[in-house]
Parts: sequence; structure tokens; C-alpha cells
Amino acid sequence: MNAGAQKHRIFHWLSRVLATNRGSFSRHIRLMAGLLCLVSLNALADTYPATKQYKVQVGDAIGAYLLPTTFTSFAAAGQAAWNEYQIPSFMPYAIKLDWFVDNNCQSKEEPVFSRQSQSYYQGIHAYLGYSGSTVTQCSFTFNYVFIGWECPYGGVYYDGQCVNAPPCTPPTTRNPATGKCDQETYTLTLTPESATIEPSKTYSFTATVTKQDGGAPSKPVPVSVKVEVDPTSGGHDGTHTSPRPKGSVSPADGTNSFPITFGSTEVSGIHTITATCDECTNGPQTATVYVKISGLSEIPASPFYVLEEADPNRPGKTKPIGATDNHKNNHYATQTARTQLFMLAFKYYKAINPGKRLYINDASLTWGGLMDDDGNWAPPHSAHRLGDAIDIRADSVNKKDGEIPLSLFAKVQDLKTAKMEPEIHCYTSTGGLVMAKAANPAACNGLNRGRHFHVIFR
Ligand SMILES: [Zn+2]
Ligand SMILES: [Zn+2]
Repeated sequence: MNAGAQKHRIFHWLSRVLATNRGSFSRHIRLMAGLLCLVSLNALADTYPATKQYKVQVGDAIGAYLLPTTFTSFAAAGQAAWNEYQIPSFMPYAIKLDWFVDNNCQSKEEPVFSRQSQSYYQGIHAYLGYSGSTVTQCSFTFNYVFIGWECPYGGVYYDGQCVNAPPCTPPTTRNPATGKCDQETYTLTLTPESATIEPSKTYSFTATVTKQDGGAPSKPVPVSVKVEVDPTSGGHDGTHTSPRPKGSVSPADGTNSFPITFGSTEVSGIHTITATCDECTNGPQTATVYVKISGLSEIPASPFYVLEEADPNRPGKTKPIGATDNHKNNHYATQTARTQLFMLAFKYYKAINPGKRLYINDASLTWGGLMDDDGNWAPPHSAHRLGDAIDIRADSVNKKDGEIPLSLFAKVQDLKTAKMEPEIHCYTSTGGLVMAKAANPAACNGLNRGRHFHVIFR
């Protein structure tokens, strides 16, 4: 069936009701319905509920005819039949108009019309039949309400639906409830709502524009994407330089449905991705990215090491050793590091330098990531990002409490295990970092600038 043929209104009358053996009308209806049911069901995409409508056949033993009017309710059709089928009240018959649906002539919808004009019942019935019924068991049945199905917006009737309706012209879309081609309206979503990733990693979000039936728009609907970072998130406070570098989103714009790749910097913190669609009925959509090293906890207090020192900016108060206004929490570490640090300090206190405690400097920030000592979002504190390295005071140019004396460096280095390696870090006169490891244990012995133990935990 071509599209042109589908465009006119098709009134489909069910054939199986037509049990009356009178009149050519019924046979005509049966034939028409049979033809319409042959339609291909391959393309059911544009489908909507058929409109239920009613027509009336009135008749008697002599003949029957179809009322030209189409009705929108069973009751209205019945009223029309009743109006049409007036039998003079002087006739000595009881007239009953009723509804039925099944082989026992039981009434279905509302049994509205009945009249008994005389004192006795002689048995002339005029039934209004329901289309789904077989009426052969009911005698004298000439009046029917036929229930029909119409496809006002194209397509052909099949099983309560209008199928193979011609596609709506963009940018309109089929309203699945009414069948009408409505103007498309769009909704934007951004998924997932949040994600947690490690610094310097990427994550893929998806922006999707859907039209009101949940499908894709029939035209490209533009969406733009941007990202912002919470300037104090991830444990960076104080007087950092501004603006804070933020992660990237790619692409910055697209249409309908497309992936958005977020790329984190090496700094931990909270980013907000915002997708905006001017043609959508809803506002901008956001997704939150938590850039962090998960699982870090603050190093707990211990009798074998010292975590706090006097805060020069707040008389009478203490702060974590190495903490600054830029990084108020610098003592976060992995479970392994916390456990191994305890054992290292215990050995130092008991065997290496009896009664003396280690002084714990930088570990990691609350969420790990880049620890930018200078508050400028840049190295050099290139380690200390994963919670697996902890600095410990050692003999240095600026004397401080609790330093590991130079004479004990080798003994501390000898505490190396498979899970813990004490390195010594120091700086040359030109600022170059020197690392004294197992292979070159004395590399920092003549260099006391910024010298400290940098212990790696695995
Ligand atoms: Zn910082
Ligand atoms: Zn270090």
C-alpha cells in the first residue's frame, strides 16, 4: 500500500461480528476488513492507538440499513439507533433495545434503552450488538452498533493499533498517545551524574538529547560543554595562584548524543561538567568528577613518632609538621604506608636511637594528587601523590627538632624491607634534587640542603 493511499482516513470495521444474514452491507464490511488486515507488519515504527468509533445499523425482518453518522461513544450510537427505530406505541408489542456482547446475548456496556409499551411481552426484540460478539443465537437481531477503528493520522488498522503510518515530517514526531505529528521537544541528559577518577586519568561521560517519545531528534540539536573546578577542593587552600588549572572536556560541543571525555590534571579536586542545550526544555545538566586517590587516611598518633609542631601563625596552637596555609592536611597515606611507618618508627625508637621519636613531615594531601609546595599548581614535590611516600626529618642545614642524625643515616637505610625503602633526598647548591638510594646510599652525605628521609612504602 503506498503512502498516498494511507493518507486518507480509513475506517476499519471488524468483520467477525457480522453474523447477521441480512443485507449486502454486512458482506461489504466483512470484505473490506479482511483486505485491510493483509497489510505488511514489517514497519511498525510509526504506530499509534487507533481511534474507537461507532456506527449503527438499524433494521427489521424486511431490511436493514446503515446510519451515515459516525459516533464517538457506544451510548451515542445506541441513542441514535433508538431514535431511528421508533415503533409506534400503539403497537401491541414490547420493544426492547439492548446491548449484548456474547453468544448468550448478555449486555455489555450500558443497557440503556428499553421500552415495554404494553402489558404483555410478545417477543420482538431489537438488539444493539457489540462488535466483538457472535449474535446468531439471538433471534430477531437487526439493530447493531458496530465498533470501528479509525486511523486519523494515517496508517492502517491492526489489532487496536494504526500501523505503517507515514513518517511525520521533521521536526515533528508521532505522539504515541494521539497519533498526531507534534512539534518535537527536546530533553538533555548528562550521564553518569558523577564519577571518581585518579589524577591524570580520563573518564567518558555522555550527553544525550531525546525527543518527547524518547527517540533521537530528527535534526541536529546543538549541545555545548564546559568544565569548572572548585578552587579550594582536594585539600588546596590558602593563597594558591589563580586561576586554578582545570581538567579538560572534549569535545566542547556536539549534537544529539555524543561522548564527552574528561581529562584530569595531576591535581586532586572536584570538577563540574556542564552541558547546555538551548533548544531543550530543561536547563543545563551537570556531572561531578571527583579527582582523587581513594583510600587515604590520616596517619594516626603513635608513641614512636611525632606528627604535630607549634604553629608559628597561631600562638599556642599546633599543626601537622610540614603543613602550610596552602595545605593544611599533609599527613594522609595508604593503609600500607601507615602500618609500615609505625614499624619503622618502632625499630628506630627501640634499637637505632633508643627513646627518640621520628618527626613526620609531608605524606600526601587528603585526596592525594599533586602536592604543589609553592601553591602554584606545579611540581617540584613530584612524589607524595599516591599516599605511598612519607618524609621524615633528618640532619639538614636548618636544624630542627627530632632530626635523624647523620651518624645514623646508614642504620636507618639498612631497615629497608620489601615493603619499605628509606631513601635520603637532598639538593645541590643549584637546586638539583639528589636521591640517595640503596645503590648510592651516601649520595647526600655532603649535601645538607633540604635533606630528609623520603620513605617509600609498597
Ligand atoms: Zn596546592
Ligand atoms: Zn619526599
